[in-house]
Amino acid sequence: MKINKKIFPVARPDLTGKEKYYLNEAFASSWISSKGEYIDKFEIAFAKFIGCHYALSTSNGTTALHLALVALGIGKDQEVLVPDLTFIACPNSVFYTGARPVLIDTDKKNWNINLEDLEKKISKKTTAIMAVHLYGIPCDMESIMILSQKYKLKVIEDAAEAHGSEVKIGKIWKKTGSIGHVGCFSFFGNKIITTGEGGMVTTNDQALFERMKILRDHGQDPDRRYCHPVIGFNYRMTNLAAAIGLGQLERIQKLINAKKEIARHYLSCLKGIPGITFPEFAGNVKPVNWLFSVIIDKPFKLNRNQLMEKLQKNGIETRPFFVPVHRQPPYYNRQTFPNADYFADHGINLPSGYFLEKNDIKYICQSILD
Ligand SMILES: *Cc1c(COP(=O)(O)O)cnc(C)c1O
Repeated sequence: MKINKKIFPVARPDLTGKEKYYLNEAFASSWISSKGEYIDKFEIAFAKFIGCHYALSTSNGTTALHLALVALGIGKDQEVLVPDLTFIACPNSVFYTGARPVLIDTDKKNWNINLEDLEKKISKKTTAIMAVHLYGIPCDMESIMILSQKYKLKVIEDAAEAHGSEVKIGKIWKKTGSIGHVGCFSFFGNKIITTGEGGMVTTNDQALFERMKILRDHGQDPDRRYCHPVIGFNYRMTNLAAAIGLGQLERIQKLINAKKEIARHYLSCLKGIPGITFPEFAGNVKPVNWLFSVIIDKPFKLNRNQLMEKLQKNGIETRPFFVPVHRQPPYYNRQTFPNADYFADHGINLPSGYFLEKNDIKYICQSILD
């Protein structure tokens, strides 16, 4: 077989719009720290895109989660329901507050938090649900919001992998990050849009927004400099990062469409191959294809790890699914999470970087079939 030396990356940003121009402007203005016009512009434009009243930029997605949790009053002697199959920042951000992350198994269809397991694990100490839209697939937000009302819980949406994905609530389509009490986003280099490092919180709750703003800025009283009525953090984004973010956001629909095209090409090549399966979702969600993710199982001839090795030899970079939280030493747990284990051990993310072309995807699929 022909060995193609080209490396097909799992993720690669597309910075070909006005990112560089805005970045140079921000640099030339000498407002390179966390004050400057691009911060406001980026936040206002992001709130508009998500369909929320308020958006507040942060230094990264993890600080966005932590800021949201603290501002919601999550802390000691409380429990937060977190999916077991997710990125480590989710349980960690809960742990930082002093609350306990309670792990929930995975839904077999959409790979997100399993609502039966979730309802079983609600206790007197439970105060919030962290709904993670994994790999761009929205959670069943309608049911989660109903549960949250029934048990009086706060809902933190982690949309770090799902910018622009949508859920139909009643008759209205809503963007993820605008449905729960607060939405959290990441702009790490491999996400749908990037600022290098960066994050955002979104909300419709003005009081929550004001609290997050104060907490983000060392807990400083907005009207009295160097007066700090609460213990806060420095979780601010730089104007330089916001300049890149604004350039990215202006083209987000195009970028989402590019990811969709990549997924379409993969699906047309891989659909129907025994042993390769895809997530299932109802007609009331519109996912975004952050990474093209599939499950590899029998009767496919290789297991997931063997396939990853073979593809690597052909210059094709892949990633396994996240290692479930209950298998991470700080969170070792006696409970079992059979679905999380299954998906973690059989899931693979295929190259999904911008600039990947139809022929590249054909080559990748051919390598899988070979
Ligand atoms: C990337 C990511 C985060 C954290 O974002 P950073 O910007 O890397 O701190 C949180 N949750 C999920 C699900 C993520 O994918």
